[in-house]
Amino acid sequence: MSKQIQAIRGMNDCLPQDTPAWQYVEQILRNTVASYGYSEIRFPIVEMTELFKRSIGEVTDIVEKEMYTFNDRNGDSLTLRPEGTACCVRAGNEHGLLYNQEQRLWYTGPMFRHERPQKGRYRQFHQFGLEAFGMASADIDAEVIILSARLWQQLGLTPYVKLELNSLGSSASRAAYREALVSYLEQHKALLDEDSLRRMYSNPLRVLDSKNPALADVLAAAPQLADYLDEESKAHFTRLQQLLSRAGIAFSLNPRLVRGLDYYNKTVFEWVTTELGAQGTVCAGGRYDGLVEQLGGKATPAVGFALGLERLVLLLQSLNLLPQLAATADIYLMALGDAAELAALTVAEQLRSALPGKRIMTHCGGGNLKKQLKRADKSGAAIGLILGEDELARGEITLKWLRDDKPQQTLLITDVAAVLA
Ligand code: ATP
Ligand code: MG
Repeated sequence: MSKQIQAIRGMNDCLPQDTPAWQYVEQILRNTVASYGYSEIRFPIVEMTELFKRSIGEVTDIVEKEMYTFNDRNGDSLTLRPEGTACCVRAGNEHGLLYNQEQRLWYTGPMFRHERPQKGRYRQFHQFGLEAFGMASADIDAEVIILSARLWQQLGLTPYVKLELNSLGSSASRAAYREALVSYLEQHKALLDEDSLRRMYSNPLRVLDSKNPALADVLAAAPQLADYLDEESKAHFTRLQQLLSRAGIAFSLNPRLVRGLDYYNKTVFEWVTTELGAQGTVCAGGRYDGLVEQLGGKATPAVGFALGLERLVLLLQSLNLLPQLAATADIYLMALGDAAELAALTVAEQLRSALPGKRIMTHCGGGNLKKQLKRADKSGAAIGLILGEDELARGEITLKWLRDDKPQQTLLITDVAAVLA
């Protein structure tokens, strides 16, 4: 036998037993964003490498070590998208969707990052994200967060996720803070790890985002961005907190929340859970007023978030919050004998036309009644229809209840739809 080829590490198949959970979650996400007036946008999985370098930032985990980058046959450097925001802005600029307009857009699909695979962290993973363009005031930040809270409510997750908030201020206020932070880090060099030392000058805010527990104390005592915020950012942040409080959304302020991508300003937020171990961030986002211009468009304010679908599904599974697996069929049609087999597919088509929405599975491959009933059982269908040669000749069919203790009935084929509707 030849050797089996395996999937790539960190890239998972989603098997038929798991797709109903994904469809359930995706359906709730789609319906919820639609109820806020969002439209779907789709963009390619591969983009020019430059797009991610320019937007996410050169000195970030993603660009430094996580991107799947390769040369196209003509020598262009291409990258499998590690996230959606940069792609959405690229598409928006390219098609003139952003300047002087308000847009509420959502997207979903696979993202690629070369990370160490573990529970909740994969190399191909899926995000659902949304972006609101053209609105600068804190009400849209609040609406985006309220929308995410509604998602948790729809999924039954409200008790298990917590909202953390921070403001990164303007680029000017960040520059002042950066100076203070660098001089603090210089004084505590001996306590820093290799990554932090490297980033101390190139991207000092990212040092705060370190996941190394050994740095917790030194980082907790570092100067805080909140003390350096400019007046406008402060007012924006205060207004956001007022709006969230009015909407009854609890949050905690986390001064060390800086997010792993460079394009954010003002509001940043994360929804975190303690139910998934180390991979606790389910949804993350913020404002990125500079990105559209940075990618060649006209200055356009924007705010958005992305959530990790694997983490969401894992969370729902671990909390037993997924609805029971649906059966694959409602009605299973069996046929006994050559004439019945010849008619079965056509009878099934008539039933599908007469019973829209019902899932009708036709037995294929022959076999005796026992074998066919076994397959009917496996399909999960509640109703079995058995077409025999004699019955067919009389225009009749047998209806058998597969899950209930009810007597079987003989019906005219032409009456079946009315009985089962
Ligand atoms: P983390 O801190 O967990 O590495 P991140 O800050 O890199 O997350 P974002 O780029 O903000 O993540 O992506 C948004 C969401 O996408 C995350 O909150 C998470 O739910 C999900 N996500 C990110 N990377 C992965 C991954 N490698 N595998 C699975 N889900 C991921
Ligand atoms: Mg990451």
